[in-house]
Amino acid sequence: MAASRTLGTFRLPPLPTIREIIKLFRLQAVKQLSQNFLLDLRLTDKIVRKAGSLTNAYVYEVGPGPGGITRSILNAGVAELLVVEKDVRFIPGLQMLSDAAPGKLRIVHGDVLTFKIENAFPESLKRQWEDDPPNVHIIGNLPFSVSTPLIIKWLENVSHRNGPFAYGRTQMTLTFQKEVAERLTASTGSKQRSRLSIMAQYLCDVQHIVTIPGQAFIPKPEVDSGVVHFTPLTRPRIEQPFRLVERVVQNAFQFRRKYCHRGLGMLFPEAQRLESTGKLLKLADVDPTLRPTQLSVLHFKSLCDAYRKMCDEDPHLFAYNFREELKQKGMTRKSYRL
Ligand code: SAM
Repeated sequence: MAASRTLGTFRLPPLPTIREIIKLFRLQAVKQLSQNFLLDLRLTDKIVRKAGSLTNAYVYEVGPGPGGITRSILNAGVAELLVVEKDVRFIPGLQMLSDAAPGKLRIVHGDVLTFKIENAFPESLKRQWEDDPPNVHIIGNLPFSVSTPLIIKWLENVSHRNGPFAYGRTQMTLTFQKEVAERLTASTGSKQRSRLSIMAQYLCDVQHIVTIPGQAFIPKPEVDSGVVHFTPLTRPRIEQPFRLVERVVQNAFQFRRKYCHRGLGMLFPEAQRLESTGKLLKLADVDPTLRPTQLSVLHFKSLCDAYRKMCDEDPHLFAYNFREELKQKGMTRKSYRL
């Protein structure tokens, strides 16, 4: 056994099925917590295979639940798997897996939104940002209400090279509502192109690797899921602070069906809006009549660089927030007409 473990050929011994585990430990899904479980181990194997080679890898699984994906990860030859699960009911079932894979599975009863993975794995795994990605992976199927805010937080961590990215360009394989997966990976000009597409693609190589039909889950959710693989880029496609990029992208997509100058204009106070929007678009060399969905990451790079220049010239500019102004005037975005 010891020899096979070093060679990375470990296989879990025969175990009760996930369905039996759910029965045995009374793990009925809690609808309010959006719990939907993957029971088909061929499917969880497929998701894990798509994460890339996990031989001798250190893997952080978020929200393991009854442990379907967990089993596939353990069978992929990992050095160590650390799981963080919020719902205490799943801990005994996970403990059973840990007993079946001695020394490989570490279980934390905690919340992925606050857990600090940067201190959890050996320092020796750390790589320079420009090197190949470290042998550290994040994998998970979380409720959609958690996975979307979490990816925004992790993208900001990518930009600062901290959190899970203190190890280097840690790869992530995460499940989202199919529509969100499509937005994350949408190319220029496509219907799904949105804020998320730019925020993800300026920092990472992003691939929609598998679509999982709703019926693969128990209980069946209302929508299908998409699994997305992220590899942080050695050099971000936009070299400006995350918050600045977020500001430009958020404003550009504010009126997604209008010409891009409409949304971008909201970067500026009303009194100077027309003139400053013109200056921004001219400096960036971007056609004002493009729709937000038609803007490439390169267009956004030029827009962010130009906006940065204008903020450097006018230090009050970055503090201006159109949404705050609307709130103060008691208006909604729709009731506001240019
Ligand atoms: N990964 C399992 C699977 O594919 O069968 C379970 C999926 S279920 C959709 C999501 C799991 O994430 C549940 O076990 C839930 O308790 C857990 N979870 C939800 N929010 C969490 C959080 N903030 N931190 C850790 N685990 C969380």
